[in-house]
Amino acid sequence: MKLYNTLSKQIEEFTPFEENKVKMYTCGPTVYHFAHIGNLRTYIFEDVLEKTLNYIGYDVKRVMNITDVGHLTSDADTGEDKMLKGAQRENKTVYEIADFYTKAFFEDTDKLNIKKPAIIQKASDHIEQYIKMITKLLETEHAYLANGNVYFDVSKANDYYKLSGKDNDELMVGAREDVSEDQNKKNQADFVLWFTVSKFEKQDMQWDSPWGRGYPGWHIECSGISLEYLGEYLDIHCGGVDNIFPHHTNEIAQTEAYLGHKWCNYWCHGEHLNDNTGKMSKSKGEFLTLSLLESKGYNPLVYRLFCLQSHYRKQLVFSYEGMDNTTTAYNKLLNRIKNLKNDLTGEVDEEAVIKYDNQFKEALKNDLNTSLALTTLYDVLKDDLSNTTKIALIEKFDQVLSLDLLKDKDIDDELLDYINDMIKQRNEAKNNKNYALADQIRDELLSKGVMIKDTKEGTTFEII
Ligand code: AMP
Ligand code: ZN
Repeated sequence: MKLYNTLSKQIEEFTPFEENKVKMYTCGPTVYHFAHIGNLRTYIFEDVLEKTLNYIGYDVKRVMNITDVGHLTSDADTGEDKMLKGAQRENKTVYEIADFYTKAFFEDTDKLNIKKPAIIQKASDHIEQYIKMITKLLETEHAYLANGNVYFDVSKANDYYKLSGKDNDELMVGAREDVSEDQNKKNQADFVLWFTVSKFEKQDMQWDSPWGRGYPGWHIECSGISLEYLGEYLDIHCGGVDNIFPHHTNEIAQTEAYLGHKWCNYWCHGEHLNDNTGKMSKSKGEFLTLSLLESKGYNPLVYRLFCLQSHYRKQLVFSYEGMDNTTTAYNKLLNRIKNLKNDLTGEVDEEAVIKYDNQFKEALKNDLNTSLALTTLYDVLKDDLSNTTKIALIEKFDQVLSLDLLKDKDIDDELLDYINDMIKQRNEAKNNKNYALADQIRDELLSKGVMIKDTKEGTTFEII
């Protein structure tokens, strides 16, 4: 398996610490709001990585955290806690906010056929672990106490900028939303391990600590949870590219200072999904959630396919036109497969299975080339093979692609509501002699794989 490693800035052969076993850590969601589809792109990439490793024979142990405390509105140590802001926005407690959006997150990931990591842990459940680590970092003088907060001293870290490859001035520009500098820091890049004092006092989640009542910084939670469940040596750590600095940079600094040796060998980052304005946002413009796509009639798995068509290390621009094209491609694909299933003839050609399976694996083993893996699927469909051979291969490929290629299509309630609503609007348009609008509605449904038929009994539809 070849993977691009942000640490070395090159594609490397992947070799885990223990033969055939992979320890993988993926940063989880900050549960202060719904995930946007950009966030979900990163979880699709991580899902494909985990499933590929499984597919080629590794036993993967994957851990993910749920950030329910400590993530501030800026990735540097300024700004309010995101959870607190979420609670104020909705007039709820942070615990209620965390529960609600954690549930919503897993509803989204389920719809995208993203497998739940084996171990999922809430940041707020591991306070003792963070206290243990911070205590040691203070003892070894990698950390210091200033005006009530505990800071990590980046000048004591071994090559602090090795992950990002950039210097402090370049990096701090992007990381700081609030330019006021914390006068207690020895170096401006130092970061908080434990807060007892902040500009924002109304923090709900607080715990006793040797340094006073307070709460952990965001970065320490991932280090703490990873060490607790995966031990001192980690094979792969993932996240989106925005996590490279400061989050993962700080994780490396504090964890390696704590352990006294190198911690994780492979750092893999997914590029961003952008909208037409550039950066995806939860507050400005259209808040692109999976539910919004569903309310517009899109199948969540079409979004998964939309992501798989491009490489995880390339920026991807979201567009409804792209989703429409992918819907057509997805429906065509399902139809072709349905026809094969309806005519299951011939023997399974084992040689062809091995050949195409290797081609599929080679694509994925080449730094997760999912678009090439999809091409292999189309090659199988085109080739002169028995239907049973084709179905056998599709079944295998879908273990990684997870596009429900062999499931019989049944329409979910939301899609049904959407179609019925569109038919009603179209009939109204026709009654008002607004034929242009009626045609537009028909075409919009067609672009989503729904064909309308006007019969004597009324309007019916067919999923094509
Ligand atoms: P958060 O819930 O903000 O902690 O982010 C969850 C995950 O989504 C992290 O791994 C981020 O790096 C990733 N992420 C944030 N924005 C985007 C985006 N526009 N596209 C892809 N991934 C993103
Ligand atoms: Zn993290």
